Amino acid sequence: MALINENYTKLPGGYLFSDIARKVSEFKVSHPDANVIRLGIGDVTKPLAPAVISALHKAVDEMSEASSFRGYGPEQGYDFLVNTIVENDYKARGLNIAADEIFVSDGSKSDTGNIGDILGLDNIVAITDPVYPVYVDTNAMAGRAGELLADGKWSKLIYVPCTSENDFIPSLSKEKVDIVYLCYPNNPTGTTLTKDQLKVWVDWAIENKVLILFDGAYEAYITESDVPHSIYEIDGAEQVAIEFRSFSKTAGFTGTRCAYTVVPKSVMGYTKSGEKVSLNKLWNRRHTTKFNGVPYIIQRAAEACYSEEGKAQVKAVVDYYLNNAKIIREGLAAQGLKVYGGVNSPYIWVKTPNGMTSWGFFDYLLNDLNIVGTPGVGFGPSGEGYLRLTAFGTLENTKEAVGRLKKIII
Ligand code: PLP
Repeated sequence: MALINENYTKLPGGYLFSDIARKVSEFKVSHPDANVIRLGIGDVTKPLAPAVISALHKAVDEMSEASSFRGYGPEQGYDFLVNTIVENDYKARGLNIAADEIFVSDGSKSDTGNIGDILGLDNIVAITDPVYPVYVDTNAMAGRAGELLADGKWSKLIYVPCTSENDFIPSLSKEKVDIVYLCYPNNPTGTTLTKDQLKVWVDWAIENKVLILFDGAYEAYITESDVPHSIYEIDGAEQVAIEFRSFSKTAGFTGTRCAYTVVPKSVMGYTKSGEKVSLNKLWNRRHTTKFNGVPYIIQRAAEACYSEEGKAQVKAVVDYYLNNAKIIREGLAAQGLKVYGGVNSPYIWVKTPNGMTSWGFFDYLLNDLNIVGTPGVGFGPSGEGYLRLTAFGTLENTKEAVGRLKKIII
């Protein structure tokens, strides 16, 4: 008899985006002529950059000849990609990250979810709230989250609220914490921490032996100079932080799949008896045992994002989305709505008007304006009273949506 991991039975049944999809398809059945604009799901819409496409074609051709065919590659990633990452994302910023501290993978969703494999089940985990749901659900699956309570919180997780009341700047936990997830620029709020604000967290982590899991999936959207591009820009972070980076939102790889995780050799975990263990060694062991590497052709595609033409093409797409974000942000602000994010991020976090709930505002936008957003409460209890809009649509649809949003009566 196969026993199951009963933690899975504690997970809430409905998944946010399937609830949204159901509501939208019901609406479409009853309003077949409505032109529904989706500013909800965080997937990109622009195609891959030409430099990426030609690298893919070339790599595919290489696979057709015995002399250039590639089978299994190094699990941690081919040297050509790892060295390009080190040069461009770290050395170019004066950061000392070594090639054997980079682990190329099929996505930051997998990596932020799988990192728990090398961490003990007794750790106390803190998350900012609202939050990217993968951090919560994967800890619940492992048994670190405890029980789901009526208020939508898990009994063993520490919630660090980020709302307009604290300018979306999380306060250090006063309770004992072993691991904290930080995501900046943030999904879903689109807000950032400056170097000084992030330093507070790094100093606290060093003092309290806390591990920071830093998700930089939206790094490419940073426009302001005081926002760090990597947590390793903060002195001492290489002792306490693991960083996750992804090509998904940077270069449209959401369907192509490539990301990487940085585990500096100086980041330590501890045995119950207090002995230090290098997390780099553990992650290497996990990665090489459970993962067989990102396809050669995809790694060549990722490498192409760093060529001179690749960089320019990828940046042009990010700028396109950032322009959409500006249009949404300014359009809503002109309506008197309170909006956050959208400057260093493709996400705009809107305070619901007239005290509406997140789902109430969602229903209003869908039914009256035919616009799909994402209810903030779906990202955690502190997301109640907010709604997330994304800048990943077309310019035309974004302008059309903002025009419709002018009809909101506050
Ligand atoms: N981390 C955050 C904060 C995200 O919002 C997302 C995707 O939406 C991911 C990670 C997933 O990235 P990937 O496509 O590399 O799995």
